[in-house]
Amino acid sequence: MALVNENYLKLPGNYLFSEIARRVNEFKQQNPASDIIRMGIGDVTRPLPPAVIDAMHKAVDEMGSLDTFRGYGPEQGYEFLAEKIIENDFKPRGVNLKVDEVFISDGAKTDTANFQELLGVDNIVAVTDPVYPVYVDSNVMAGRTGKVNAQGQFDKLIYLPCIEENDMKPEFPTSRVDMVYLCYPNNPTGTTLTKEDLKKWVDFARENKVLILFDAAYEAFIREENVPHSIFEIEGAREVAVEFRSFSKTAGFTGTRCAYTIVPHELMAYDSQGQAHSLNKLWLRRQTTKFNGVSYPVQAAAAAVYTPEGQQQIKETIDYYMENARLIREGLQKAGFKVFGGVNAPYIWMQTPNKMSSWDFFDKLMKEAEVVGTPGAGFGANGEGYFRLTAFNTRENTERAIQRIINKLG
Ligand SMILES: *Cc1c(COP(=O)(O)O)cnc(C)c1O
Repeated sequence: MALVNENYLKLPGNYLFSEIARRVNEFKQQNPASDIIRMGIGDVTRPLPPAVIDAMHKAVDEMGSLDTFRGYGPEQGYEFLAEKIIENDFKPRGVNLKVDEVFISDGAKTDTANFQELLGVDNIVAVTDPVYPVYVDSNVMAGRTGKVNAQGQFDKLIYLPCIEENDMKPEFPTSRVDMVYLCYPNNPTGTTLTKEDLKKWVDFARENKVLILFDAAYEAFIREENVPHSIFEIEGAREVAVEFRSFSKTAGFTGTRCAYTIVPHELMAYDSQGQAHSLNKLWLRRQTTKFNGVSYPVQAAAAAVYTPEGQQQIKETIDYYMENARLIREGLQKAGFKVFGGVNAPYIWMQTPNKMSSWDFFDKLMKEAEVVGTPGAGFGANGEGYFRLTAFNTRENTERAIQRIINKLG
């Protein structure tokens, strides 16, 4: 008899997006003439840049020719891409990396979910609240979280509230923690940490031998000077942090799949005898066993992001989204809402009026303005009373949605 991994039975249902779809469909059935604008899109919408498409075409042709065909590549990615990543994404910020510290993969979701496999099951994990659900669910699957309570919170997880009172910045845990997930710029709140804030986290991690799992999927959206793009801009971070990056939001690769993870040589985890073990070595071991690399045409396409044309083209797309973010942020402020984010990230985190629940506000916004977003409560207990709007719709729809919110709810 095959026994199930009972940790999977502790997983919360994937209720958020199915419940949104259910409510939208019901509203549309009752109001066939309605013109709903979706401001909850969590995926990019602009096409891949021409430089990327050209490189992918060329690489596909290479795969069809005897002289240039490639079979299995290195599981951790081709050096041609790792070198471009180091030269372009890190060196200009004063961060020096070795080629074998860069692990190319098919997604930051995959890597943020898988990296915990290298760590002991008795480690105490901290997450921000609200949070990107992948960090929680992957640790539930691994058996690191204990049981769930009526509020949907797990016994053994440490939740770091990100609320109005702390300006959406998590405070240090007051009890023992071994691993902490930080995502900056943040999904869902759209907020960031300054260099000083992140330095405090690195110092805390060094003092307490905590591993920081740093998700920088939105670094390309950073506009302000004092916001670090990489945790490795902070002195000492190489001893305590792993960093996840992705071409998904940066270059429109959500349907193409390419990302990378930086695991410094200094980064260690300890066995029960206190002996240090290199996480770089263990991650290589894990990837070479469980992963066979990203396809050559996709890695060639990702490398084209770093050509001058590629850089110009991704900048134009990100500028487009960030102009949407500005319109949303300023429009909501004009309508009298309290808002966070939207300056260095494509997400705007708004407070619901009069402490209305996230789902009640969802209904109100849908019925009165025909605009759909994402209830903050879906990202954690401290997301209750908040609502997420995203900058990924078209300019035209973004302008229409904001005008409606100002007219109907302002
Ligand atoms: C979109 C997103 C990613 C990127 O995931 P991919 O698997 O690379 O597409 C990672 N982290 C967060 C928080 C995200 O929102």
